[in-house]
Amino acid sequence: MYKIEKLWFEIKEQLTILGDFHNRSKFKRYAFPFLATLLVLFLKSFFYPLLGRASSFVLLSSIVAISSLYGGLGPGLLATFIAALTNYQFFLTIETSRRSITGDIILTIIFIIEGLLISSISEAKFEAEKEKDQFIGFAGHELKNPLSVIKGFSELTISKARKKKLYKILEYTQEINNQTDIMVSLINDLLDMTRIRVGSFTYKFEDCDIEDLVEGVVDYQRVVFINRKIKLLGSSNRTIYADRYRISQVISNLIINALKYSGDDKPIEVKIKNNKNSVLISVKDFGIGISPDDRLKIFTLFYRASQAKRNSKEGLGLGLYISTKIIQHHKGKIWVKSSLGKGSTFYVELNTI
Ligand code: ADP
Repeated sequence: MYKIEKLWFEIKEQLTILGDFHNRSKFKRYAFPFLATLLVLFLKSFFYPLLGRASSFVLLSSIVAISSLYGGLGPGLLATFIAALTNYQFFLTIETSRRSITGDIILTIIFIIEGLLISSISEAKFEAEKEKDQFIGFAGHELKNPLSVIKGFSELTISKARKKKLYKILEYTQEINNQTDIMVSLINDLLDMTRIRVGSFTYKFEDCDIEDLVEGVVDYQRVVFINRKIKLLGSSNRTIYADRYRISQVISNLIINALKYSGDDKPIEVKIKNNKNSVLISVKDFGIGISPDDRLKIFTLFYRASQAKRNSKEGLGLGLYISTKIIQHHKGKIWVKSSLGKGSTFYVELNTI
C-alpha cells in the first residue's frame, strides 16, 4: 500500500513538474516537440500492430498534449505543426490505402484544438496562481515592516525593564517578542514559498564543510531554545557543494519541528554520518510521531497531520515543502521514518565532492 501511494505521489510530482513550464528555458521548451516527434517515429512500427489505424492519431496527439504541457502555447503550436507534417509525411507510408485529404485536415484541426486547449488551460492556471503568489509576496513584505518596528520596541523595552528590575513588564514584553518572532518566521516561509513557485528563489552555491555547517545550526538553536536538550552525534570530514544558508534553513526547520512536536522535557538528536559518496544528516525526536498515512503527505504544500493540529501547535505546513524543494535543488534526498506516539527521524542525504 505504501509503495503504491509513493508511486502515485511521484507520478503527481512529475505531472506538476511537467505542467510548470514557466521555469524552463526557451531552448528546452521548443526542442521538446522535435525530440517527442523523433521518439514517436522510432516507436511507430511498435505501436502500429497494437493500435492499427488509431496509432497515428494516438501517437501524434500525445506529442501535441505533452509538448503543450511541457512548453506552453508556443511549443504546443509548434508540436501541432510538426504532428500534422509527420502525419502527412511518415504515417502515409503505412496507411497509404486509407488516407484522404479530408481526414488529414480533420486530424490537423483536432491537433490544433487540443494544443490550444491544453496550453491555454495551463497558461490560465499559471496566471491565476501568479496573481495569488504576487498578492502573498506583497502582503508579506507589507506585514514585515510593522513587525520589525514592534520587535525593535519590544527589545528596547526588555532591556529597560531588565535594568529597572520591572519583572512583570519584562515577562510580558518577552512574550510579545517571542510571538513577533513566530509571526516573522511564518511570513518568511510564505515569502519563500511564493519565491519557489514564481521561480525567484535564489541559490548561492559554494564548497561547505558539512560538519561545520551542522554544528553552526545546532549551536544557534541551542541558544534560541535554551531550556531544551539538543544532542549532536557523529562526525564528517566531507565537503558538499551547496548553498550554506539554504541547507542551514532545512536543518533548522527539522530541529525546530523536532522540538515543536515533542514534549518540553524530551531531548532531540542531530547526527552526521558519512556514506560512500554522500553524507547523511538525521534529526531524531521522541515526540508525537507521524502516522503511515501522513508520511508522504507532510512534504506537500500546506499539509499538516491531524495529530499536529490536535496538539494545537502553530504552523502553516510550509517548512517541509520548502525543505524538500531546497534538497531537490541540491540533487539530494529527504525522508522520514516514524512511529506514532514514539517519535520521528528525518533524514537528509547530500552528495559530497
Ligand atoms: P508546520 O510545522 O509549520 O506545520 P512543516 O511543513 O514543517 O509545517 O510540517 C508539516 C507537518 O509535518 C506538521 O504540521 C506535522 O504534522 C508534521 N511534522 C513535521 N515534523 C514533525 C515531527 N518532528 N514530528 C511529528 N510530526 C511532524
